[in-house]
Amino acid sequence: MAQGDLFVISGPSGAGKGTVIARVLERAPRVWLSVSATTRSPREGERDGVNYFFLSKEEFERGIEQDDFLEWAQYAGNYYGTPRRSVEDHVAAGDQVILEIEVQGALQVKERMPEAKMLFIAPPSLEVLEQRLRGRGTEDEATIRKRMEAARVELSQEKEYDVCFVNDRLDQCVDEVVAYLEEQAANEA
Ligand code: 5GP
Repeated sequence: MAQGDLFVISGPSGAGKGTVIARVLERAPRVWLSVSATTRSPREGERDGVNYFFLSKEEFERGIEQDDFLEWAQYAGNYYGTPRRSVEDHVAAGDQVILEIEVQGALQVKERMPEAKMLFIAPPSLEVLEQRLRGRGTEDEATIRKRMEAARVELSQEKEYDVCFVNDRLDQCVDEVVAYLEEQAANEA
């Protein structure tokens, strides 16, 4: 890749990816997190353009036709996609760009950009994952079931990734991801 680096981070919903990445961003100055587009409704506290670009189904499908997405996928009944342009701009500017995306989209990126580094964040177990999803209290029962099904599929794809971090203790997991990013930056220098 020309200047910066592209890092794909996946892992089942509830594995704590969002929390890990938020902590990594505080510590790694060159890292930029891509803001995805989605057709799901905002959760409480989520803001358009910050957490996601919240689009209608029609707007998203127009984006697909116009090739606006680097990758896109359907997940638990909604579309999710990475806006191509902003990612390309940040990579060109030398940033370490993180895409926090699910497995189908991650595999599209891997195919199109084999130089992308693939990171997987796993929960200590499926039981812990379910407890975390329920504890979050943001999803109804049907959604939790869909997400647990998706999680089983996602965990079986871990072998497609370059490196796996188990989010058992948050601090330790963050330290490991930061160390990995620093190592990659040093390799490039
Ligand atoms: P959530 O609805 O919990 O925010 O996200 C559900 C799943 O969609 C998560 O696994 C998240 O990583 C993934 N996701 C978020 N943005 C994108 C994206 O742009 N593309 C793809 N393929 N997955 C995404």
